[in-house]
Amino acid sequence: MSKDYYQVLGVSRDASPEEIKSAFRKLARKYHPDANPNANEKDRKALEEKFKEISEAYEVLSDPQKKKMYDQTGSVEFGPGRSDFNWQDFTHFSDFEDIFSRIFGGSDFGSQFFSGFRNERADLDIAIRIRVSLEDAFYGKTKIVKYRRNKTCDACGGTGAENGRTNVCKTCGGTGQQRIVQGQGFFRMVSVTVCRDCGGSGRVPEKVCSVCKGTGTVTIRETLEVKIPKGAPSNLKMRYRGKGQSHGRSVGDLFIILDVADEPGIRREGDDLYVQKEITFPQAALGTELEINLFKERYTLQVPAGTQPGEYLKLKGAGMHHMRRNGNGDLYVKINISVPKKLTARQRELIQQLDEDLDRKKGWFGRSK
Ligand SMILES: [Zn+2]
Ligand SMILES: [Zn+2]
Repeated sequence: MSKDYYQVLGVSRDASPEEIKSAFRKLARKYHPDANPNANEKDRKALEEKFKEISEAYEVLSDPQKKKMYDQTGSVEFGPGRSDFNWQDFTHFSDFEDIFSRIFGGSDFGSQFFSGFRNERADLDIAIRIRVSLEDAFYGKTKIVKYRRNKTCDACGGTGAENGRTNVCKTCGGTGQQRIVQGQGFFRMVSVTVCRDCGGSGRVPEKVCSVCKGTGTVTIRETLEVKIPKGAPSNLKMRYRGKGQSHGRSVGDLFIILDVADEPGIRREGDDLYVQKEITFPQAALGTELEINLFKERYTLQVPAGTQPGEYLKLKGAGMHHMRRNGNGDLYVKINISVPKKLTARQRELIQQLDEDLDRKKGWFGRSK
């Protein structure tokens, strides 16, 4: 048992809803920081804590479901797996507007409370990361993405009510809005937020819809064809409007974020690609023609005579497609010179002859005097 909510409100375990409400009202007036204008900083903090504590207790004991859970288990979940109470969990601001309208500003109290109402729309967006190979990004590809999303329940049109029959929401009196007044002294800030009990519709179900259990949304599986554009970079964010969660008439977007996998042996820098190729010393000295394979592409690379180890040779336009303009990046081939570890007698003889010849000319190609 974490907290004794009954003790916090000073009511017995069999108190009626009216008794609970009046107990809260009395305590809220007493501990409201505005009712204690001479409190110092430390006392003010304590008052805020106490005020939050009684609000938490009231939130639980005034809600038949939460109360039942608390009575049975000794604790309550305010969100999935979350038993700590935040101001956004408090659903009775408008019931006690006369008290809450005098809420002081600038403190943790206010900011915590207001943050709960922001980004309602952003919460409906879904982001999915998908991993694709570099080859898929090179050629472009259509990928099937499967995911789940909440969609407005067709059976009740999102009202959460059987046959769409609803009554006026008591919390907001049908306006769909809750007025919150924040401030102290001369400062009064009125902000209007969506009513939490009816989600802004101003109506609550007469009988809860059996398909969506009153939530107004159902979870559906979606299959989406995602076109990965040619030349797509990693972290490319693609937006699919209206493919996020929907709630009532609001619908969010789906974001597909690409994760382009590394390919062994290929380095990518923007739209340019880098690979390596080993050739022999004679090939480097005399020049040669190399076949370069990149995915399904075959290129012929001319290696000029006198190519140095570590030199980069360019295959123009053989890199990744430029996504936002015409053309392609380039493919660079780094030339490595392989030195044989074993030689036949004849090879050894030939290299020795070459060495003597080079020595006589006192230097390598182009450096002899
Ligand atoms: Zn429904
Ligand atoms: Zn309402």
